[in-house]
Amino acid sequence: MNLQLTNRVFLISGGAKGIGAAISKTIAEEGGIPVFIDPSHDEGALLLSEIERMNQKGMQIPIRLNLPSDARKAVEKTVEKFGRIDGIVNNAGANDGIGLESGDPDMFRKSVEKNLGHYYDLVHYALPHLKITKGSIVNISSKTAVTGQGNTSAYTAAKGAQLSLTREWAVELLTYGIRVNAVIPAEVMTPLYRRWIDTFENPQEQLDLIQSRIPLGNRMTTAQEIADTVVFLLSDKSSHTTGQWIYVDGGYTHLDRAIGRN
Ligand code: NAP
Repeated sequence: MNLQLTNRVFLISGGAKGIGAAISKTIAEEGGIPVFIDPSHDEGALLLSEIERMNQKGMQIPIRLNLPSDARKAVEKTVEKFGRIDGIVNNAGANDGIGLESGDPDMFRKSVEKNLGHYYDLVHYALPHLKITKGSIVNISSKTAVTGQGNTSAYTAAKGAQLSLTREWAVELLTYGIRVNAVIPAEVMTPLYRRWIDTFENPQEQLDLIQSRIPLGNRMTTAQEIADTVVFLLSDKSSHTTGQWIYVDGGYTHLDRAIGRN
């Protein structure tokens, strides 16, 4: 399938590592131009050299999105360099374990803002450009938004809000032909996931237990499998899909887990 992304420009927050890096790379493989907003210098430089080896273009904006002005500058730099924006992948975030008992109101508010604010900011500032290209927006949420996880109130609040905004923006942007969808991962081995699993006393045992409960193949989802769905949603091949929450999780969230047990 030719996704027809040639010379189309996509902004990916957190696009230098983990799921975001797989998305950036896959966009380039499909002929598109990924602009990844991510403070990870070494990983970003490596990714850019991989993209250049494919004879494709790309750019890193090496910042951590924090203030609204960060998102505005990222949009401005992208348009200055490439002249257009065809899509946004809101992906940057971290499960930071701010719970009811372990956190406090100040930590809660800061974490919600950190995980949610820039999802709004990027789309807000990119909107004039997305209107021209009839662009596509993909919000990366998390299974925890619909199942809970325990001890992570702020992260799940932000992830749930991202799902609501997917529906809300899909409605608001119908008139411009801009589509908005969410992709919901569950268990994907990335630097973030590695840090989380390493908090367990016996990480390998915990990983084996989780994998044994994933119905399809008793394995983690790969970052590439998430990226393939995201890039399809960015492309015109999904031209009548909007407002959807798509679970790429081997059936982990919805299927009877008794089925998947080894
Ligand atoms: P990751 O391995 O930590 O990669 C995320 C990248 O984003 C990192 O390079 C990180 O830099 C960067 N980043 C974080 N906050 C940023 C910000 N405000 N502005 C710019 N860059 C920022 O994470 P991942 O596991 O790939 O997760 C990506 C997304 O998938 C997140 O939204 C996460 O909630 C979601 N998700 C992941 C899983 C999973 O199993 N991995 C499951 C469900 C949902 P630093 O490392 O320097 O912070």
